[in-house]
Amino acid sequence: MKIAKVIIDLSLDKGFDYYIPDNLSSQVHVGSQVNVPFGRSMRHGYVLAIGTHTSYNKVLKSIASLCEKHTKIPEPLVKLGEWMADYYCCSQEQAVRTLLPRAVRSGKVKHKTLKLYSITDSAETEKFIIEHGEKKPSQGQIAILRTLLIHQQVSQDQLLAEAGVTASPLKTLLSKKLVTMEEVVVRRNPYDSARIMASEPQEPTAEQQAALEQIYEKLNQPEKGHTILLHGVTSSGKTEVYLQAIAKAMKMGRDSIVLVPEISLTPQTVRRFRARFGDMISVLHSRLTEGERFDEWTRVSEGKVQIAVGARSALFAPFRNLGLIIVDEEHENSYKQGEAPRYHARDVAVVRAHFEKCVVILGSATPSFESYANTINGKYSLIEMNKRIDDRLLPTMKVVDMRLGSQETGKASIFSKILVDAVYDRLYKGEQTILFLNRRGFARQMLCEQCGYVAECPNCSIPYTYHKKRETLTCHLCGDVIKAHLTCPACKSPEIRYSGIGTEKIESMARAVFKDARIIRMDSDTMHSAASYETALDSFRRGEIDILIGTQMIAKGLHFPKVTLVGIINADQSMYIPDFRAPERTFQLLTQVAGRAGRGDISGEVLIQTFNPSNDTIRYATHNDYKTFYEDDMEVRKMLSYPPEGHLITIHFRGEDQNAACACAYDFFERIRPACHPEVIVTEPEPAPIERIKKKWRYMIMFRGPRLKYLRQKIRHEVLHGKRPKDIDIYVDVDAISLM
Ligand code: ADP
Ligand code: ZN
Ligand code: ZN
Repeated sequence: MKIAKVIIDLSLDKGFDYYIPDNLSSQVHVGSQVNVPFGRSMRHGYVLAIGTHTSYNKVLKSIASLCEKHTKIPEPLVKLGEWMADYYCCSQEQAVRTLLPRAVRSGKVKHKTLKLYSITDSAETEKFIIEHGEKKPSQGQIAILRTLLIHQQVSQDQLLAEAGVTASPLKTLLSKKLVTMEEVVVRRNPYDSARIMASEPQEPTAEQQAALEQIYEKLNQPEKGHTILLHGVTSSGKTEVYLQAIAKAMKMGRDSIVLVPEISLTPQTVRRFRARFGDMISVLHSRLTEGERFDEWTRVSEGKVQIAVGARSALFAPFRNLGLIIVDEEHENSYKQGEAPRYHARDVAVVRAHFEKCVVILGSATPSFESYANTINGKYSLIEMNKRIDDRLLPTMKVVDMRLGSQETGKASIFSKILVDAVYDRLYKGEQTILFLNRRGFARQMLCEQCGYVAECPNCSIPYTYHKKRETLTCHLCGDVIKAHLTCPACKSPEIRYSGIGTEKIESMARAVFKDARIIRMDSDTMHSAASYETALDSFRRGEIDILIGTQMIAKGLHFPKVTLVGIINADQSMYIPDFRAPERTFQLLTQVAGRAGRGDISGEVLIQTFNPSNDTIRYATHNDYKTFYEDDMEVRKMLSYPPEGHLITIHFRGEDQNAACACAYDFFERIRPACHPEVIVTEPEPAPIERIKKKWRYMIMFRGPRLKYLRQKIRHEVLHGKRPKDIDIYVDVDAISLM
């Protein structure tokens, strides 16, 4: 008898063996959802594997029944789930849960159905009407039959309304077999019914053509997976390349998945895909109802669509003949899930492609160092697109030295004179301006307004974080602490600041300086819903707004041809967060924001205000020199063995009792340490940069370097099966992207 290993929705990280009864043996496959007896109750589970042996030494129970067949997970996805559980150190149940949307997993959402009625036999019906209609012309039965003779097939609601009767005569007719009823599944359609103008493929530019040829070549080698990094400047036509690559895959009978960051999953983006592929596409966004989500998942699972577009979780769309995965803006942090399993959709996409032998395109104007490194070591191929469409120029980028301004007026002004003049110029010409401020980072640093000095840790070349309550400066990488400065250590000026400016302040300043301008601010404080975000963008697009002020929210992917000026208020802010990726993020942000300018016929200008005009990152970004920036910054990472040079795993310990959390971290650390390869760099337990969140104290351990696999297995086992105090929670972050 065959034996199935079944994973049950309890976090035990354990599969249970069950016999597959003969009557189900042809229907139970890897990925099937089944009902099994467990203890005294019945539970849902998924079949992870099928075999003939068990190591369980008592009599096995049998699978009771099969759940609806459409909830089957494709076998390669089951394998992907196992890989995730292993790699990201989470339980198998957590991994399986990730593969399925809740609407499908819960078993509570069902298909929406409609009852349709029709005449069984029209000759019979006419005879019946003639016979009975004379005797009782007003009778409900007759009215129903007359209505049905007009329509081929009609829903119950419409039938009863048109016939003007209740449901009881209908039942009689059904039992007399004069009327037939058919129950059909109807789709809950999440799209507005408004028709979208179909779009034709654009004639590719030379660069697009070259890119497409390479992609087609890989699509034509379906015996193994391929990953391509498409490094194309903003507005170089990457999206058009995606669209044509998808069309090609479709012609070959293969399905495609397109991942975009949640924030870019706007109606504008969706429209672009639907215009090209119409109903062959399924869009999986967070605003779908449970019913819609269930239906979309089923449409993919049943092969009714060939393309799925969505954020992170769309990666698990249950296609059975996948050919292409596109990860747009692959450098985006939102591809990393913030809770277990803490997977990175870009990396899992590459693994899925490996299992299912398909092509992955990672697209970005500012690739992550991880992906770029993989093109250098030969794991990925690299395609570059350096020109904007229609020979539009990249915007000219100018650095504005804010130290000069502060010498003139004695205090730092928020808008430099150059920026004010440039905005006035755009207002005069009727063009649009974006003012960008990056408020990212919780940390407040010490910055001298006179000379630009930033207090940095001497050991780590990252800035100290200012702790207001204790009046100290602390380094969150090495733990160094000094007393907060009262005057600048470099120039002795008392004009030092421990805080940054916010967008709100920028808005009020802008209203004061540009009196008649129409101004809107977009950040997480003002934009409470997706709808308010869309409304604001729409009015900006229609030209009803002159100046758009915002945070990261406005940095990505937006296409506004009338924007000819972008002002970056303070480029320094993102540079000094205590994270080895701070320069990379600054470079990305500057490039992305700058990319919003000059997308129309008039060329664009970008003004970058900074207190550190000679800073390398800013210099490379203004020269659009990704490669040198990469090489330069990699030196630091190589020295310290940070990704992508080494791997990085962090383990976090949280609890309300500070000593207990700390003790638990040390205890864990001592048990794990023997599993470390000598080349692994180990950071002993120390308070996390944000020491306490929601009353919980936080400690963390960090491992980085090569050869982490064995260590990772030990960590996984310890986290999932080790003993520890109940009131401390532990989580592992493999390939952590944030060190907070
Ligand atoms: P990216 O994704 O690299 O930012 P897009 O694909 O959005 O660039 O292209 C920018 C603009 O150029 C869009 O308006 C797009 O319709 C247009 N475009 C792209 N490819 C072509 C082409 N081959 N011919 C004409 N216009 C194009
Ligand atoms: Zn100073
Ligand atoms: Zn330090």
